[in-house]
Amino acid sequence: MTETLAHGCLTKMAVEPGAPARYTLRAGDDRLPLDSLLGEPLRLAWSGAIACTNCGRATRKSFGQGHCYPCFKRLARCDTCIMKPELCHYFQGTCREPEWGESHCFQPHIVYLANASGLKVGITRATQVPTRWLDQGAVQALPILEVDSRQQSGFVEMLFKGEVSDRTNWRAMLKGETPELDLAAERDRLFAQLASGLDALRERFGESTIRPVEAAPRTFTYPVLEYPTKVVSHNFDKRAEVAGRLMGIKGQYLMLDSGVINLRKFTGYEIVVSHGVS
Ligand SMILES: [Zn+2]
Repeated sequence: MTETLAHGCLTKMAVEPGAPARYTLRAGDDRLPLDSLLGEPLRLAWSGAIACTNCGRATRKSFGQGHCYPCFKRLARCDTCIMKPELCHYFQGTCREPEWGESHCFQPHIVYLANASGLKVGITRATQVPTRWLDQGAVQALPILEVDSRQQSGFVEMLFKGEVSDRTNWRAMLKGETPELDLAAERDRLFAQLASGLDALRERFGESTIRPVEAAPRTFTYPVLEYPTKVVSHNFDKRAEVAGRLMGIKGQYLMLDSGVINLRKFTGYEIVVSHGVS
């Protein structure tokens, strides 16, 4: 007996902070709140179709998390400078979409410390807080600096990367073995260690462009019945049907008793989500 719960092309799950965080799976126009499905048998079946999240065209392969190849080559959001903001080329007049850049990159950005699998540094647009942290599966986060643009945040992050990782170990994050950190103490330590580097950036971009943020550390909890001891991941490209009991949700991962799946990775994939076993 199976019952269809949602059908359409995946976009990343919506998530709101709470105790625990509340997730909603999004497939096409369908919205499926997942909290009541914890512990239940689920089946996700990919039809074989992928639609570009930007233009809607069918694409055989997904580029840059859910784009067709032409959009991937054309959109500013798919450019290298999004992942490496220090490579921003707006001022050379070569931004792929200058207006998009102005409304997304030339906006206040936050440099933060987070703990998803240990201490890391990251950057995000101020409006993406706290979604960004929940999407990473962070259990703690602390904004430490605010800057005027994405490019500036990239230079600050480069400086911090000398001392702190900018990566999450997703397997460790999914095992839930994350010792608690004193993020305020880590911030103070890093500010002291990197003082001359921060001064140099302020000299370059203007004294008021890199501002300390006064904020309290945030903590996040996730709906998880049981963490996996061994992390096995599902992949629609290898097997179109994924089934198992929903044991938890963290970051953009569904944790099934048969393995985990990163739904964000399959943005644009047309899937049917059903309840029960076939
Ligand atoms: Zn497209």
